[in-house]
Amino acid sequence: MVAEKGAENTHNEDNHDVLKSTQTVIHNALEKLGYTEEVYELLKEPMRMMTVKIPVRMDDGTVKVFTGYRAQHNDAVGPTKGGIRFHPNVSETEVKALSIWMSLKCGIVDLPYGGGKGGIICDPRDMSFRELERLSRGYVRAISQIVGPNKDIPAPDVFTNSQIMAWMMDEYSRIDEFNSPGFITGKPLVLGGSHGRESATAKGVTICIREAAKKKGIQLEGARVVIQGFGNAGSFLAKFMHDAGAKVVGISDAYGALHDENGLDIDYLLDRRDSFGTVTKLFKNTLTNKELLELDCDILVPAAIENQITEENAHNIKAGIVVEAANGPTTLEATKILTERGILLVPDVLASAGGVTVSYFEWVQNNQGYYWTEEEVEVKLEKILVASFENIYNTSQTRRVDMRLAAYMVGVRKMAEACRFRGWI
Ligand code: GLU
Repeated sequence: MVAEKGAENTHNEDNHDVLKSTQTVIHNALEKLGYTEEVYELLKEPMRMMTVKIPVRMDDGTVKVFTGYRAQHNDAVGPTKGGIRFHPNVSETEVKALSIWMSLKCGIVDLPYGGGKGGIICDPRDMSFRELERLSRGYVRAISQIVGPNKDIPAPDVFTNSQIMAWMMDEYSRIDEFNSPGFITGKPLVLGGSHGRESATAKGVTICIREAAKKKGIQLEGARVVIQGFGNAGSFLAKFMHDAGAKVVGISDAYGALHDENGLDIDYLLDRRDSFGTVTKLFKNTLTNKELLELDCDILVPAAIENQITEENAHNIKAGIVVEAANGPTTLEATKILTERGILLVPDVLASAGGVTVSYFEWVQNNQGYYWTEEEVEVKLEKILVASFENIYNTSQTRRVDMRLAAYMVGVRKMAEACRFRGWI
């Protein structure tokens, strides 16, 4: 089982900041586009937020009550879409921010969705297979009224995977009294999953790295790459970078980082990682995550969690290109510092949109009952992401704004226009 993404929080971040920062950029983007304050009032928070209590019978016979959330940001464009995170640091504010980011991603790659996100406060690393199954099924029962193939479509996120999606799909199908593969994406292939979904986030990041490198005149062949996080995004990305001839000189997990300026043995590390992306425990000479981010390299990819590049370390980043595979890894202050230093920053809402793009392909295939080959998926993903990158890059050049603000402008405009045509604003 490969969990989506995979480095843990190294400190307790203030999730409130994540929501506040997103709201600040949304406000700036709407202002640049000439929209009124009413539009901001509508888009600054999810339109629906559900908190649920999930009682789970643990293997030792006791009952533990878990707290879960599902946020639906805005459904003017279409049904809401976004993953479910299982993590001890999940909070209401974080889930809200994550649902807004999903709306932006869907707008940027032009999918017919709004954004949603779910989360359960739990630590799946301390739970058995059967406890996880009961928790997953309990969550679906708790939120079943507000989700569905044409309402809100979940998917994997941090520490959830195709097995969890399979249990959730099965539970929903029982409630719905229908086989409902389109209820959730990121499923195993035999249950209506799509070719290429598991590696889709990393594929999208790879395309963004390639396009950003072209803009900066950096050769990918021989380029030194540092990747923070060795979960779903980070591990596949390390492989793709290695296959493209780049030198992966640093990787990390929740517990530490590995560095070799001659390039790490990626195949060996992939072979030894556990299902949560942990691998550094096997080594004696490790660095901290903080040291990893400041390593000398050409391309830096934060592929773990929020708030990793801050005003404290932004001045020490050596890379010429930073591509955000994680959601929210760079604070707004750090974005400003990196931009002023001439570092090209490809924002999360663009760089990590490959996952939801192939989730969309999966949903389309489920709705049609007609399945595509891996090549078909790859060609379609490539086309969408190259066009989206070009669109955001050009917007940032012509409007003289950084890539994050440009991406927000593109993402938020589609939402605002859909709300306007529906007569909501
Ligand atoms: N959790 C992923 C993300 O943050 C994928 C969401 C999806 O596939 O719906 O983009």
